Amino acid sequence: SKAPSVVTRFAPSPTGYLHIGGARTALFNWLYARHHGGRTLLRIEDTDRKRSTQDAIDMIIDGLNWLGLDFDDAPLFQSDRAERHAEVARKLLEAGHAYKCFATPEELEEMRAQQRANKQPMRYDRRWRDRDESEAPAGAPFVIRLKVPTEGETTIEDAVQGKVTVKNSEIDDYVLLRADGTPTYMLAVVVDDHDMGVTHVIRGDDHLNNAFRQLPIIRAMDLIEGGWPDPVYAHVPLIHGPDGAKMSKRHGAVGVEAYRDQEGVLPEALFNYLLRLGWGHGDREEITKSEAVELFNLDGVGKGPARFDIKKLQNL
Ligand code: GLU
Repeated sequence: SKAPSVVTRFAPSPTGYLHIGGARTALFNWLYARHHGGRTLLRIEDTDRKRSTQDAIDMIIDGLNWLGLDFDDAPLFQSDRAERHAEVARKLLEAGHAYKCFATPEELEEMRAQQRANKQPMRYDRRWRDRDESEAPAGAPFVIRLKVPTEGETTIEDAVQGKVTVKNSEIDDYVLLRADGTPTYMLAVVVDDHDMGVTHVIRGDDHLNNAFRQLPIIRAMDLIEGGWPDPVYAHVPLIHGPDGAKMSKRHGAVGVEAYRDQEGVLPEALFNYLLRLGWGHGDREEITKSEAVELFNLDGVGKGPARFDIKKLQNL
């Protein structure tokens, strides 16, 4: 059968402006898809209803447009898909890959206090993994947790980080569905990536740990119904300031709109600068958009943090 063509996505949480790091993630996703003649999609991860705003959604979309990054479909809003997320949680539950946990917040607090006192890692102790529902008080609230394999290890061949291995015993039986029936971020991302046909997950390396929590959902669903292949992961190092600390306001503006509106930077210049942050293409000073599409690959993405230097950007 024919290999599926490349589908990438940019999945911002609309809680503020388009961060310069997010813009670079969007750019890499866009370039990777364009280079391979694939598709690139936008997903607005607005499940945190308190922190997500329409203003932020507009700013992110404006910033992407201004940079010249287009998408191959209308944006998908994660908050529209809660029922589908819950459906996948139920499938996992019915097939025995997930279970109901009736632990109360007080019990979990006590568990954590004990782990803290014993200097143990703070993690859910799987107390409901092998208990029967009938042991819970009638009508008691519950969450649905994934039954993560406890034996063996999980290895990711990350296209940027290389081979990364984690012991399965170190992965929590984390929550998929909260007591109020709403999906957690971990579940929503996996279900949406699958349903959008995403083949390559290119995102900040602050999400590398999450990949080890997301893969068990994918693999369990693949066992249940097939058609849930592992995506290719590429976790891109975050942007740091010239002093080596994580990029923040004291290194210059962190929102793309500041460069558009106040600093007088042209979109081509920011496009170029973001591309060169953490992606090597020899000694070339300037690269056009079509050259970038032609040359871009994930092998060129450095493993170390990229250094943001506003002076270099202003000199472009
Ligand atoms: N919404 C997440 C963020 O803005 C990204 C999730 C992902 O790319 O998987 O950090």
